[in-house]
Amino acid sequence: MANGGTVSQSILVVGGGMSGLTAALEAAEAGYDVYLVEKNPYLGGRVAQLHHYFPKLCPPYCGLEINFRRIKTNPRVRFFTMAEVQRISGEEGNMDVTVKINPRYVNEKCTGCGKCSEACTMEIDNPFNYNMNKMKAAYLPHDMAFPMRFVLDPALVKSVEAQKVKEACTYDAIELDMAAKTVDLKVGAVVWATGWKPYDPVKLESYGFGKHPNVITNVMMERLASWNGPTQGKILRPSDGQPPKNIAFVQCAGSRDQNHLPFCSGICCLASLKQTTYIREQYPDAKVTIFFIDIRATDRLEDFVAKVKSDENLTLFKGKVAQINQDDATKNLILRVEDTTTEKLHEITVDMVVLATGMQPNTAENPLPTSVAYDDYGFVASLKAKPGVFAAGCTRTPVGVSESVQDGTAAALKAIQSIVRR
Ligand SMILES: Cc1cc2nc3c(=O)[nH]c(=O)nc-3n(C[C@H](O)[C@H](O)[C@H](O)COP(=O)(O)OP(=O)(O)OC[C@H]3O[C@@H](n4cnc5c(N)ncnc54)[C@H](O)[C@@H]3O)c2cc1C
Repeated sequence: MANGGTVSQSILVVGGGMSGLTAALEAAEAGYDVYLVEKNPYLGGRVAQLHHYFPKLCPPYCGLEINFRRIKTNPRVRFFTMAEVQRISGEEGNMDVTVKINPRYVNEKCTGCGKCSEACTMEIDNPFNYNMNKMKAAYLPHDMAFPMRFVLDPALVKSVEAQKVKEACTYDAIELDMAAKTVDLKVGAVVWATGWKPYDPVKLESYGFGKHPNVITNVMMERLASWNGPTQGKILRPSDGQPPKNIAFVQCAGSRDQNHLPFCSGICCLASLKQTTYIREQYPDAKVTIFFIDIRATDRLEDFVAKVKSDENLTLFKGKVAQINQDDATKNLILRVEDTTTEKLHEITVDMVVLATGMQPNTAENPLPTSVAYDDYGFVASLKAKPGVFAAGCTRTPVGVSESVQDGTAAALKAIQSIVRR
């Protein structure tokens, strides 16, 4: 070793989405101790918020549950939720890391019984459902959350209600004086897998997100279709709770656009085709139009793409939507778009719009606490970010779940090599 220190046999994985979970489990199952640090109060990342996921179009909990079981049965994985890495110092093989753990105000005695939530009247926005509904301020992050443990919002803890909520718990699981704490770790290598966030649709001013209630985004559509979403799985227009009859998907909403995200997220075309199947399951006669620049659906799913495209109530319209206006009386939406095959300008009215927004790396706004190279869009530039630090999944490039799993496995192997070859 360059610094003559002892090589740590532990690996730090940051981010508990598909990439991070995979990296953590592969490394642990190869015999290494792993610390997994996740910012949310639950593991699973953005995939946990999907209704179905391709290629198999099954609920994401098919895959996630298997990983959670692997974590439960593997003492080598130690995970921290509501946690973030504040500092990384040292060098490959011998790094010092400080992790800050924010208070959940609920300890491990929680059985998930929900009595605290029943006693609570305060409501807050529900981030799991992209704030489309409210939830109690004493909450389980979602029905299938792992760990299955409640959380108290800081606003509730400071309120006059807090004591009543604490007294409702018969397991002595609520600690109103729980404070943030830091943990110092020694690790040999780091895998950074903090994933992505949806591009902010408010920045797409001409599309009226936030002003026109029936303009939603693709991630919101995932929650609308989900049994544990804000409408218990019924796809309804936000303005009046009515079934939509005519829905438009606007592809490349902010993507491949020098003013927003210049890159292609590579997933949104398939996501809109997948979401067409959600609509079709509920509304056999609903009209769907996908407005696109060009459809970039990967070859592996050719059969799926062909099947969706054969839907006679689906129109594929080649043209990038320029403007979305609202008819204030009906709250219907009027799309201005040029058909690029005929060069004719159209105004098309629909009753709901889904913006296919892309995936922006979280590292663009929250870089690693150690110096690494990024590309022009904020993705970590390569798998080997620096000696001993590796990037996986959407931290490195926009990818789907199967690529995230491959990437997490690759990063785990690189992290192990980083320790072994010292
Ligand atoms: C609309 C839509 C639909 C999609 N549908 C599919 C599909 O059907 N099939 C498919 O294969 N792919 C689909 N995808 C892509 C899929 O969501 C990604 O492949 C997957 O989320 C990538 O996993 P990840 O672990 O890299 O990132 P994420 O899922 O984003 O996980 C990252 C984790 O890191 C955590 N984190 C963030 N910052 C920090 C920090 N500073 N410290 C600690 N933790 C942090 C996050 O809370 C999160 O848990 C879809 C994408 C979109 C936009």
